[in-house]
Amino acid sequence: MKSFSGSVLIQLLVLQLLVVVSVSQSYDFFYFVQQWPGSYCDTISECCYPTTGKPASNFSIHGLWPNYNDGTYPSYCDSSNPFDPTQIADLESSLQVSWPSLSCPSSDDTSFWTHEWDKHGTCSETILDEHAYFSAALDLKNQNDLLSILNSAGILADGSFYSLSSITQAIEGGVGYTPGIDCNTDASGNSQLYQVYLCVDIFGADFIQCPVLPSDTCQSTIAFPSFSNYNNEKRPGSLLASLLLYLLSGIQLADSDPTESQVSTLIEQGVML
Ligand code: 5GP
Ligand code: 5GP
Repeated sequence: MKSFSGSVLIQLLVLQLLVVVSVSQSYDFFYFVQQWPGSYCDTISECCYPTTGKPASNFSIHGLWPNYNDGTYPSYCDSSNPFDPTQIADLESSLQVSWPSLSCPSSDDTSFWTHEWDKHGTCSETILDEHAYFSAALDLKNQNDLLSILNSAGILADGSFYSLSSITQAIEGGVGYTPGIDCNTDASGNSQLYQVYLCVDIFGADFIQCPVLPSDTCQSTIAFPSFSNYNNEKRPGSLLASLLLYLLSGIQLADSDPTESQVSTLIEQGVML
């Protein structure tokens, strides 16, 4: 009896070890990536506000991405577990604020969340199911306010230029860990602050020092563009498209004054052209 329970115990320990090994091999850490909307929008490509309206002038979530320590990463790990909006219904309003989609055409954000879950979330599903995954991302976002951290260091999103090292150091001081800074290029060719990468443990709970940082994409001095002053309705292409739609829509300028909402709907549609 004693040796029987002993062997059951050993079998259980081996099983536990196997689970730990297989889980720890599925990925090594997460990148938690936040984007600056002003820099997503002011490139030569267009951006579109979500159907819920212009997002706040704040960093927003791009994704929570399982990664390996050597810099490579898994993707699209389980097509049998596609994004299911009903599982995160209680998080939807928080996600609309913290994880809006700025891609075109204008959407209700679910296509962005679908892409992020299918591409990245399914690769950590052994630890975080869909609800836990999106909930973890929201909690991580709430642990730090990147914009306040930068503002407190005198780094303002007003189109000014800052040294890359001052931005890195400010975030490191505020968060406690060195971030990876990802830049893109504005319509005039300036290198600008686009995304901030922070590293997180495999449970999606605590920030950690990055085992590997993404490769350098920034110049030594970078712009931090405004989003509050950004207006995608002023884009020349959008204006032209809006004008065309406006004329085609049959609203007669001479006969009646279009309401403000009619005009903004048409402009919104123009942005989507
Ligand atoms: P980009 O080439 O624009 O940097 O990245 C395109 C997409 O590839 C990202 O949105 C993300 O889905 C994926 N990706 C790029 N770099 C990394 C990385 O270092 N780790 C992970 N997990 N995904 C990445
Ligand atoms: P990635 O594969 O790079 O993680 O995700 C980028 C994909 O998500 C692209 O297909 C992009 O069009 C879509 N997407 C939708 N909304 C956004 C957004 O606000 N920011 C970024 N970076 N990609 C978005």
